[in-house]
Amino acid sequence: MRTPRRLYGRDDWTAEDRAEVSRIACGHDASMLPGGPHPLIPVAQFYAPDVPGLPFPEGTDLLQVLWCPFIDVEDQGGSDAVQLRWRRAGEVAEVLAAAPEPLYVGADELVPVPCVLHAEQVVEYPAEHDLDPALAGRIGSWDEDGDRGYRGALSVAPGWKAGGWAAPFTFRDSGGPDELRCARCSAVGEPLLTVGAAEWDAESVSWRPVEEAHDASTTPTEVSAGLGYTLQLYACPADPRHPPVTVTQ
Ligand SMILES: [Zn+2]
Repeated sequence: MRTPRRLYGRDDWTAEDRAEVSRIACGHDASMLPGGPHPLIPVAQFYAPDVPGLPFPEGTDLLQVLWCPFIDVEDQGGSDAVQLRWRRAGEVAEVLAAAPEPLYVGADELVPVPCVLHAEQVVEYPAEHDLDPALAGRIGSWDEDGDRGYRGALSVAPGWKAGGWAAPFTFRDSGGPDELRCARCSAVGEPLLTVGAAEWDAESVSWRPVEEAHDASTTPTEVSAGLGYTLQLYACPADPRHPPVTVTQ
């Protein structure tokens, strides 16, 4: 008798699982598809004056986040599929009328619908796993039934965001600082970009921007990473140009 393995998230998948999912998601025999390098697609772009809290390396004022829309984006710890470009906006001389597109994508849900960002600074507080255990216990007693809304309304803002605290862990526990270490220099990464499952839900509806209509989409980018969990990119504090660490949580 075989015991089925429960799949809580892509972190649990074996290489065989991933190959099979890629094959199914692709819908074709991959060997029939055009080879060669794929262009990365734009995911987010930030100017320093709009998001001054981001760790722009000296001399840069533009951050472009790019990825290759295949599930490699969700590789625990990171892969070449996710890349950061820290640039100086004034040196961008020629802007292409249309971004290069890959000939095919491995995961539709990783292709964002273009959106204009209206950056807004908000105050948030650490998720439970980032709190001192004694304080987390006191908050737990105070908000025992969840009605006071520490998790949904007071702590980490849901949705897409730059900077801030680490998102709550849902399908597994936090791996602590060790899972956030930079592959180049071992510094512990800090939250850079959060790709949230939804901008708000029933528990976190108080985060809905007042400018948004009550029936506005909670998923304007239509991106769904990690089976509907939250994908977070962590930047190296020693040098943000090092490859980001990616965590599905
Ligand atoms: Zn580093």
